[in-house]
Amino acid sequence: MLSFWEKRSFIKYDLVIIGAGIVGLSTAIQFKKDNPQASVLVLEKGVFPSGASTRNAGFACFGSLTEIIDDLKSLPVQEVKELVEKRHRGLRAIRSIFGDQALGYQENGGLELISSKEEKYLERIEYINTLLFPVFDDDVFEVENQHEKYGFSAKVKAVVRNKFEGELDSGKFLNVLWETCQVFKIKILTGAYVKEIDQENKTVTVKDPSHDSFISFEALKIAVCTNAFTSQLLKGIDLQPGRGMVMVSSPLVKTIPWKGAFHYDMGYVYFRNIENRLLIGGGRNQDFDTEKTLDQGINPKLKTYLLDLVHEVILPGQKVEIEQEWSGVMAFGPNKKPVIKLVSEDVGVAVRLGGMGVAIGWQTASELVKMLQRQ
Ligand SMILES: Cc1cc2nc3c(=O)[nH]c(=O)nc-3n(C[C@H](O)[C@H](O)[C@H](O)COP(=O)(O)OP(=O)(O)OC[C@H]3O[C@@H](n4cnc5c(N)ncnc54)[C@H](O)[C@@H]3O)c2cc1C
Repeated sequence: MLSFWEKRSFIKYDLVIIGAGIVGLSTAIQFKKDNPQASVLVLEKGVFPSGASTRNAGFACFGSLTEIIDDLKSLPVQEVKELVEKRHRGLRAIRSIFGDQALGYQENGGLELISSKEEKYLERIEYINTLLFPVFDDDVFEVENQHEKYGFSAKVKAVVRNKFEGELDSGKFLNVLWETCQVFKIKILTGAYVKEIDQENKTVTVKDPSHDSFISFEALKIAVCTNAFTSQLLKGIDLQPGRGMVMVSSPLVKTIPWKGAFHYDMGYVYFRNIENRLLIGGGRNQDFDTEKTLDQGINPKLKTYLLDLVHEVILPGQKVEIEQEWSGVMAFGPNKKPVIKLVSEDVGVAVRLGGMGVAIGWQTASELVKMLQRQ
């Protein structure tokens, strides 16, 4: 039972957004920038954003050489190029709006370890560089001279550098998005689990834990930014959950002789140096079926695979103790294009960001806002 005051001040909004990840908060900010008088509410089921956005590895990446070549199997060449361009544009936008310091952004480059099974991809560097030249105005990929200086095992036959990639601090990124929402007087309610969207009446119903009842918010427009969890709210969106895991070591005794955003095993494994700790994650390709889940948890098979890589390939001979581990859930589809569309007149969805939402998230939100405003 709502009070007169609650009904008047808390229930009706111009835009209600579900999900406070990168896409939800970026949608809120961009909509409010274009419509300063609009009332915007973000509903988040976690105590703080609790999807992939705060559980990732912080790679501001566009796709490694082998990933981009692989993408050509599922998308036409022009669309692969457009996808890289959107990631690049998204990253440029957040860097210019929020600044590198607020994002904890470092441009140390992206580096891909090439083992013998990937050596054939090196033959296509020139083709990919030519394809992407109009986007970057420069060659993107080059084979590093003397990669032995990094101390990887002899399994690594080459290292390919992409000077345009970087790394950021995912906590700082979400914080700066959150703080910007506050500046714009965007309301964010956490612990607000959306149970149902009524597309016809444009209401969004949330479970109210304090009264063991339900509250229905009324909206002129609704944006669904729930990524992997979208099927719980909307039918017919082509996506599948894909869980990923990340581990961070204690500071190492010896100085790690490299920095940057490293990719391995066709992009399924990623690692970086954070204050002389190793962050490593991925390995989903070792057990795809088990990882198609919305449940959090560490798959021992993946953990063993990643630890073996650490000891045998990445830091051979070094003592590495894992201090922290966690999981997060991504959303995947038949190709790497996000799903950005209106599902009814004033209800839009921007989801399925795969394993590269950091760079493309802002751009994805921008497209959703344009669609909602056209209505
Ligand atoms: C382990 C891991 C490592 C990754 N590493 C990288 C990386 O290095 N670089 C990169 O670019 N990308 C990476 N990604 C992918 C990236 O994190 C995602 O693509 C991106 O965060 C997606 O953002 P989003 O806002 O669409 O989704 P999310 O961050 O998942 O946000 C969805 C939000 O919706 C909320 N929600 C869901 N259902 C409801 C509901 N019913 N009611 C209310 N709220 C709801 C969730 O709690 C969540 O906060 C990684 C992901 C994982 C899991």
